[in-house]
Amino acid sequence: MINERRFFGTNGIRFKPGIDFGLDFVIEMSEAIGTYFSKGSILVGYDGRNTSPMIAKAVMAGLMSVGLQVGEAGLSPTPALQYAIGKLGYNGGLMITASHNPPEYNGIKVMGQDGVEISREDEVKIERIFLEKSMRRADWRTVGNYQQEIKVLSTYIQGILSQVDIDLISSKRFRVVLDLGNGVQSLAAPYILENLNCEVITINSDINGEFSGRGAEPTLETLIGLSKAVKAHNADLGVGYDGDGDRSIFCDENGVIYTGDRSGAVIMDYVLSKKPKSLVVTTVSTSQIIDYVAKRYESKVLRTRVGSVDVSRKMVETKALFGIEENGGCFYAPHIPVRDGAMSTALMLECMAKRNQKLSELIKELPQFYQKKAKFACPNELKTRVMSLIERYSEGEVEKIDGIKLWIDKSSWILLRPSGTEPLIRVFAESDDEKKLEEIISRFSFIVEDSIKKCGGG
Ligand code: MG
Repeated sequence: MINERRFFGTNGIRFKPGIDFGLDFVIEMSEAIGTYFSKGSILVGYDGRNTSPMIAKAVMAGLMSVGLQVGEAGLSPTPALQYAIGKLGYNGGLMITASHNPPEYNGIKVMGQDGVEISREDEVKIERIFLEKSMRRADWRTVGNYQQEIKVLSTYIQGILSQVDIDLISSKRFRVVLDLGNGVQSLAAPYILENLNCEVITINSDINGEFSGRGAEPTLETLIGLSKAVKAHNADLGVGYDGDGDRSIFCDENGVIYTGDRSGAVIMDYVLSKKPKSLVVTTVSTSQIIDYVAKRYESKVLRTRVGSVDVSRKMVETKALFGIEENGGCFYAPHIPVRDGAMSTALMLECMAKRNQKLSELIKELPQFYQKKAKFACPNELKTRVMSLIERYSEGEVEKIDGIKLWIDKSSWILLRPSGTEPLIRVFAESDDEKKLEEIISRFSFIVEDSIKKCGGG
């Protein structure tokens, strides 16, 4: 059952502090989260946003007020906090972050004992406690205590290093440019690479709440500076992270930046070559390049709704080896089944070292697929009707994991999906034939616009 009022979105609770909600909301929501956990100690970390320390203090107060113990991790990459929860024996964790969103946003992510975000069902449980105001309050005897947790970053850095062949990577003496995007991966990725004997050049490495360099989101457009730096320094590789350090976008030695599914497919190919016949989890919107690579190693691909929580939870449930998202998220289960920008970087370096190839050469070995996105304004209240009208145009094989995915032929598909957060219908198509892709997009753009009009929108 879904609550009438939702607070959790695709990736935790996101809001504009002081505009959407004040600290009263943060404290009450933290009391609800604490009541859900019921007892134990919770690790709390935050990203470099201006509002993060303030929200973290309110969150910790809320948790202690319902009797939970709190460990304050301070500034941490999200995947570092997630890894440390399990490794340091906490019962759960809260990360204050809005990932790649603009500086005025912040948010709360809730992790279970294993460091993985809690399930969609558990999010609903927390919302119910919050809406019913059934938080349990502690008195002076049972109120929680507080301690600083100083081992988060060192635990995380050691954890990643233990997953890769340090000697092999070190022998290559790679030169790597890291675009840290003024985010918290500044605290870990440069040190991990130094331990791998890389020559590290950093840009946008000062952590600040304005994300003053190129913004918090690493995209083909925002990483032009990274591309230039890779060429200027004659580097072997470039990597750009998002604001909380769980996603990484890669740049080859020629300054070419790749989408997350192409670079992720390179890492996935390497991981599966070491352990064929494994399970891979990805979302319904990720490229068929994933299926192509999986087939090479007799591995199976499972697809979920769009959202890293869905991928992580499916990985836990099925004991999958690897997870991937097109936005630059790679999940490596032997470390922890959550997306992790620094783990992905270490695996990419090991792959380049082991195969003795540059990233451009590794990418060339993959088939070329073309992708195109479009979006159409559609009022929230019309979305359901518009989607059912669109469905009438469905032909061939239809997948309904998230929105409607239609297979036009064996290597062309289109995904039509109502946005979970904005009044939009999103369209995403892929084909091995560029001309065909254009035809598909223009045909379905007409269908979507026409359906919105027929439902009284547009
Ligand atoms: Mg992120």
